[in-house]
Amino acid sequence: MNLNQFRKRFPTEDVARKFLEKAIWPNGRFCPHCGCLKSWPIRGRTTRSGLYECGGCHGQFTVTTKTPLHGTKLPLRIWLMALYFMVNSSKGVSSVFLAKWIGVNQKTAWKIGHAIRAMMAAHGNAIGQLSGIVELDEKYLGGKPRFQRGVKHPRGKGTRKSCVHVAVSRQGPARASVVDNDSYATLAPHVRKVVAADAQLMTDQLQTYVAIGKDFASHESVHHGIKEFARGNAHVNTAESFNATLERAKQGIFHYISRQHLPRYLGEVVFRWNNRDPVEKKQRNGLSKIVMQAKPVLEQFDNLLKYAVGTQLRRTIYGGIAVPQPLFGG
Ligand SMILES: [Zn+2]
Repeated sequence: MNLNQFRKRFPTEDVARKFLEKAIWPNGRFCPHCGCLKSWPIRGRTTRSGLYECGGCHGQFTVTTKTPLHGTKLPLRIWLMALYFMVNSSKGVSSVFLAKWIGVNQKTAWKIGHAIRAMMAAHGNAIGQLSGIVELDEKYLGGKPRFQRGVKHPRGKGTRKSCVHVAVSRQGPARASVVDNDSYATLAPHVRKVVAADAQLMTDQLQTYVAIGKDFASHESVHHGIKEFARGNAHVNTAESFNATLERAKQGIFHYISRQHLPRYLGEVVFRWNNRDPVEKKQRNGLSKIVMQAKPVLEQFDNLLKYAVGTQLRRTIYGGIAVPQPLFGG
């Protein structure tokens, strides 16, 4: 779907609102205040359309109440357009470009970007435990230290950069989370949380995994230190390919990532990775090859907006944003 087709799909605010109502309430309208399924539209000459009254708590709500779009003064079509650009780019969109494309100022675009990332992160958290062959790896992300003449800064592990733990199932989704460090005490409970016990683990030579691997169906590792990158079916190439997309997103879009916002940036990279389908592509030599291709835009919208309610960003008194606790334990 190109931008022109996209504009034609959403010609008015009403169409955009109806689309959002279907995507945000896929199982029917519910009150975001109390969860009640009974509600009715409030009609009146002065009432804005899309306003409902709850039969349970008698509170009023719209489709954006208690979502990252809560209280937005922007047209819903601008939000959908921002979603379109975020979902369509292969490695993310900077707030500077997003601002130009959707016609808002950079500060607003930055907030819109994070609101969308918050839903992407919620989508990633809802994946549940990975199973089958699961590759584990760690990646260190963070800003470069200030340049100092003659000083060579260490890279990766042991620096102040954030440790990101990556778990990728070879034929399925990925998960990425910020962890404190790569010690057994930190990683063991984390891996048990994101990976099912019947999974076959593949890791590099990090010693911690030897002990962690005992809790799973099997564990094989490759030793990168002695230039061993694959041994039969044992490799972590999928995890490394995921890390490469993470690195590209970091280089391209979020050059400097603060610890506070890092989980949401990770959510974006994970969302993109998990919203692809295998597609058969004919090659020049006549053979076909399976490549991963992004799902259709509107399908990705539906996947994302399901997680809108309860994922809310609030402005802090310092003008930044904060993430309150989810409403329904999700
Ligand atoms: Zn209610």
